[in-house]
Amino acid sequence: ASFDEMGLKEDLLRGIYNYGFEKPSAIQQRALLPIIKGRDVIAQAQSGTGKTSMIALTVCQLVDTANREVQALILSPTRELAEQTERVITVIGENINIQVHACIGGKSVGEDIRKLEHGVHVVSGTPGRVCDMIKRRSLRTRAIRVLVLDESDEMLSRGFKDQIYDVYRYLPPELQVVLISATLPNEILEVTSKFMTDPVKILV
Ligand code: AMP
Repeated sequence: ASFDEMGLKEDLLRGIYNYGFEKPSAIQQRALLPIIKGRDVIAQAQSGTGKTSMIALTVCQLVDTANREVQALILSPTRELAEQTERVITVIGENINIQVHACIGGKSVGEDIRKLEHGVHVVSGTPGRVCDMIKRRSLRTRAIRVLVLDESDEMLSRGFKDQIYDVYRYLPPELQVVLISATLPNEILEVTSKFMTDPVKILV
C-alpha cells in the first residue's frame, strides 16, 4: 500500500511527501493500517527501520488538533530518543499544527508545567518524568487515547517497569496501545497481556 491508500489526513499526507518520503518502509507497510484502524499493535522493530517516523505518523493521524488536550503519550527509554521523536512529530505534523512536548528528566519542571498548561496534543517522554508530571496533575490523562511504548525491551532493562505500570494506571480504560520492541522477552509479553486487547503482532 502507498501512503495515499492509508486514509491519512490530507494535510498530513502533504507533510509526509514534503519530508521526502515516497512510500512506507516495511514496518510502516505492515503496522500503520492496523494502528490507524484502532487496533493494539505489537511491532518488532529496530531503530533505523522507520519506527520513529511511524510513531509520528500514528499520533499525527489519531490526534484531533482542535482539542488542546493531551491525546497521545509516547514513552521512550532515553531523553535523546524522546526528543528525537518530538522533533520528527513536529516536522511531519507541521501542516496540521500539532503541538508536542518532550517531558524528560534533567529539564526544568517549571518549563514542563508551563508547556502543559498552555496545551499540547502529544507528550513524548521518559517514564520517570512523565510519571512525575501526572502525579503533579500537570499532565492530565483524561483525553489520552493512545499510548506508544517505544523500545520497550530497552525501557524494561533500564528498570522503568514500575514507572510504566504506574503511568498505565492513570490512563483511561479505552486506550489503544502500540508496543515497539527489538526483542520480545517474557517481561514484554507480561506487559502486552496486561495492557493490550487482542493485539496484532508484527514480527520480523
Ligand atoms: P526512523 O527509524 O523513523 O528514525 O527512520 C530511519 C531513517 O529513515 C530516517 O532518516 C527517516 O527519515 C528515514 N525514513 C523513515 N521512514 C521513511 C520512508 N517511509 N521513506 C523514506 N525514508 C524514511
